[in-house]
Amino acid sequence: MRDVCIVGGGVAGLAASIFTARAGLDTIVVDAGGRSPPSSRTQSGDGGESILARNASLENYPGFPDGVDARRYLRLTREQARTAGSEFELGRVTSTEPIDETALEAGFVLETAGGDPLEARRVIAASWPDSEYLVPLDVGRIKRGSKHFVSVDEAGRTAVDGVYAAGRLADEPHQAIVAAGHGATVGLAVVHDSDANFYHDWVTPEGYFTGRGREVPPGCEEIGEDERLERDERARARMLEAFSEPLDEEPTMHPSVEGK
Ligand SMILES: Cc1cc2nc3c(=O)[nH]c(=O)nc-3n(C[C@H](O)[C@H](O)[C@H](O)COP(=O)(O)OP(=O)(O)OC[C@H]3O[C@@H](n4cnc5c(N)ncnc54)[C@H](O)[C@@H]3O)c2cc1C
Repeated sequence: MRDVCIVGGGVAGLAASIFTARAGLDTIVVDAGGRSPPSSRTQSGDGGESILARNASLENYPGFPDGVDARRYLRLTREQARTAGSEFELGRVTSTEPIDETALEAGFVLETAGGDPLEARRVIAASWPDSEYLVPLDVGRIKRGSKHFVSVDEAGRTAVDGVYAAGRLADEPHQAIVAAGHGATVGLAVVHDSDANFYHDWVTPEGYFTGRGREVPPGCEEIGEDERLERDERARARMLEAFSEPLDEEPTMHPSVEGK
């Protein structure tokens, strides 16, 4: 059984997975795979297809002064999640039920279209716009227009212990940075609600804690100057390679325009 299953490998789900995986939780991200979903669940290096893949130029995401290709942003975020330890599968989640209705801490079983069920102690729904698979759990969904949103508290917890919702599905504003931030908030709530030994996910210069006679808190790391420079070198090399050529991928068109 996984510690956490994140349904939806878009902006919010990827951000959540970075935090849960870095905190040492066994994290799987399952994504429906956009418009060409697999007929059964498959292991994948791909996180699926976020609605952000429709964007033509992402210009309001902090850190990119002249904007960034949204598909490149998604690729890099996926790589970061994988580096953190998240695993990816493609498959549409179709239902979620408690393993034991009288003991939710026993976890949940998630059915996927054409694939084996998955079991996880905690579930993060980050699957805008689909929450049909949560109906058996009665998490509390609100219908507005043709869309359903999932009701959550300030940390993304639903009415069902162990089930969370993140990003646009949790009625957050429809912006990538907000979805990413909310995904991080929900990932941290999962970390805090589990028994992970955690304080802050921080990397600090050597001596930041120990120089004050404190132990390095769980989840934190102190690194020396050589290590800092090595990490910077690695990070720059990865980004230089990632940005060296334009991506050979076009924005996905809205389904109602595509057929015209
Ligand atoms: C045309 C367009 C342009 C945009 N431009 C911008 C912009 O310039 N700036 C900006 O900040 N925001 C922009 N956005 C908004 C931004 O894309 C969203 O706010 C953001 O992607 C929401 O993140 P999310 O994680 O909630 O959903 P998503 O990123 O869409 O991720 C949801 C994921 O869940 C998966 N999924 C769905 N159902 C299931 C299921 N049953 N089982 C498994 N997986 C499932 C989907 O495949 C998808 O990968 C744009 C959106 C569109 C449509």
